[in-house]
Amino acid sequence: MSIVPEQLFTPVHCQRCGQLLEERYIDAERRRRFQCVNCDFIHYMNPRVVAAIIVWRGRSVLLQQRANEPRAGYWTFPGGFLEMGELPAHGAARETLEEVGLAVEPAALVGVYGRADIGIVLVAYSGESPAGEAYVADPESLQVRWFDIDNIPWQELAFETSEAALRDWIARRQFAEGAK
Ligand SMILES: [Zn+2]
Repeated sequence: MSIVPEQLFTPVHCQRCGQLLEERYIDAERRRRFQCVNCDFIHYMNPRVVAAIIVWRGRSVLLQQRANEPRAGYWTFPGGFLEMGELPAHGAARETLEEVGLAVEPAALVGVYGRADIGIVLVAYSGESPAGEAYVADPESLQVRWFDIDNIPWQELAFETSEAALRDWIARRQFAEGAK
């Protein structure tokens, strides 16, 4: 069996009572859902939220090279799955500190991007890091590096959502510069 690492596993057991789930058509919702054969609990499967920060300094943006699948060896900006009880901006800042060792304020929302095929929603912020050294702060990256915005490795970006967010951020930045 091939495993898509970013895909959620099909649930087998009820998270409420532990009995088996069965895929059923739920009339009221007009959808197939996983429902418990014992207690009728419906196990909803909804997209998960990833929060991230496009960290910038002058003309450069900070990217990390992923150590793990999916897309090991490819580049993206720091970010990760939100934890329960956490707001998107807090999660983005936490992940950035954990991954590249920089405390960055997620100052502006760049955009919200979705991948319907695997059920992921990316909330991308931008934030300036005027000083401090970025480094590989956890085992999730192989290296972290500043890229001039003219030298972003577009062909080696990890995800289409990272690319879309970076393109939006650059377009807005150039618009702002042109408006000066
Ligand atoms: Zn149950």
